[in-house]
Amino acid sequence: MFKLPIRRWPERSRMLLVMLAVLLPAAALIVVSIRQLRSIQREKAIEAVIQRDYQQVLAIAEKRIVDHAYDVVEDDKATFPEEPSAKNLKAFLTTHPDIAHVFVWSEKGKLVLESQPGRMSNPDFDQESMKLSSMVGGWFEGESSEFFVKLRKMAKTEGRPTLFESNWVLRGDKWEYQSLAIFVPRGSTAEQPELAGFVYDTDYLRDKFFPQILNAVCPYQRAGNSPESQAAMMVRTAKSPALLAASSAWDGGSAEVERKFESVFSGLILGMKFRGTTIATISNRFLRTEFLIVGALSLLLAVGMFFTYRSVTRELALAKLKSDFVSNVSHELRTPLALIRLYAETLELGRIASPAKQHEYHEIIRKESERLSGLINNILDFSRIEAGKKEYNFRETDVADLVRSTLESYRYEIEQNGFQFEQKIDDNLPQLRVDREAIARSLLNLVNNAVKYSATEKYLRVCLYRSNGSLNLEVVDHGIGIPDGEQPKIFEKFYRVGDPLVHNTKGSGLGLSLVRHIVRAHNGDVTVESTPGKGSKFVITLPVQEGQQQEASGASA
Ligand code: ADP
Repeated sequence: MFKLPIRRWPERSRMLLVMLAVLLPAAALIVVSIRQLRSIQREKAIEAVIQRDYQQVLAIAEKRIVDHAYDVVEDDKATFPEEPSAKNLKAFLTTHPDIAHVFVWSEKGKLVLESQPGRMSNPDFDQESMKLSSMVGGWFEGESSEFFVKLRKMAKTEGRPTLFESNWVLRGDKWEYQSLAIFVPRGSTAEQPELAGFVYDTDYLRDKFFPQILNAVCPYQRAGNSPESQAAMMVRTAKSPALLAASSAWDGGSAEVERKFESVFSGLILGMKFRGTTIATISNRFLRTEFLIVGALSLLLAVGMFFTYRSVTRELALAKLKSDFVSNVSHELRTPLALIRLYAETLELGRIASPAKQHEYHEIIRKESERLSGLINNILDFSRIEAGKKEYNFRETDVADLVRSTLESYRYEIEQNGFQFEQKIDDNLPQLRVDREAIARSLLNLVNNAVKYSATEKYLRVCLYRSNGSLNLEVVDHGIGIPDGEQPKIFEKFYRVGDPLVHNTKGSGLGLSLVRHIVRAHNGDVTVESTPGKGSKFVITLPVQEGQQQEASGASA
């Protein structure tokens, strides 16, 4: 039968693949966002949006200004004399100082135009009055019917029968703007049709009408708003960039967005800006915030990825160490068991006559079972530590005595293995509160390693001495040594150096991690100094308490 080979990706590649699957779209998203922000910046899209927004505000403001203009005219119309004689018009003007000129036109009586009597002493004003009279007379002579048609249409469609016309007058060297409101007066009949009008002068528009209405229509004027977020509006004539009138929040300069008045006040321009800021500043601030957010997100992503990668790598390494551990331990358990069984069976068969041989076999069985129980103790300790259930039984102990007796039971085996063994234990060492069994096991683990990892030169030295505020237990060998980069790792659980010399030696990778745990539980530490090919020195440091030091000095005295 034909079988498709199933390709299994190595763990690390699979993990990298998963990370790429997350990282690539996220990175793409960030790149796209940055590109988009760049293009927004380049094309000044935000400025355009704000300008569109301002234009809308201006359109609404214009509508309200126009409504107000109609209201003003309606108010003035309400008191307009029914009998439009020159006398009545003069009287009307005295009660309406905002109106510069007033006029009535009828087909029969032609045009009657009166100007503010108080201003007639000004020759310019007098001349202006005459010019206006001839201009308006001229309009109505030829086009009165058109005015009537337009006004009728406006009354029908909008309910506001007033026509506004613009007029420019030259005062000194300056062109000034006037607004003419033309309407059908109440006295007009079908037989005697009449047209009337008010002329609102620049002074009125500049000093009264626009300042009032601009303040009323300007948005964002609420009391709590900071001056920065206050909109300001102004009006100018199309003939000059100079200001005609402005709202109170106006802080000089020119408008950022402008809009021409269409029907009423044609020839004037309405402008707007924000106090204390510009559209470019608002847009830059917005873009800066967006860039910062994208930057912060990218950073978070990178940090997140880094930590994920690190923790997954660690988990993978641990998983590999665990699987190595299982095979190492099975091997370590099987070998002594096989030996014990072999020698026990041989002895049982009674074939070994020589007592010396019998003794040797018994010794092998004892040593192998000691090795087994050492290994099992290590595993049990390890599992207790992992489950957080490891308990220590601290008792006042003569550490020198403990070290001596532990080594004694091991000495024979060390020397049998051909080791030159030195033991140096200082006198008058203080007693310490330690867990006897745990400290003995730590020492055995270190000695055991020194024996296991010594290839050619078989040397072992154990020293116990005082150094400053601590008691140091030192185990030195002239064995294979540990490379610099590996030294911090050997205290991690399951870790074994990837050297072929180490792999040929049985081990579980638990010994040193236990030593470190035990020593730290005694508030001490374990360190290593090692040179590959030359040997290693492991030092267990146990702190001596204040009282114990005194006790020691008392003892030595
Ligand atoms: P094990 O000896 O069971 O492998 P340990 O935790 O006791 O586990 O040691 C971890 C690793 O440290 C060993 O696999 C070995 O590579 C290295 N090591 C420990 N002690 C020595 C030593 N005295 N000399 C050289 N290498 C050592």
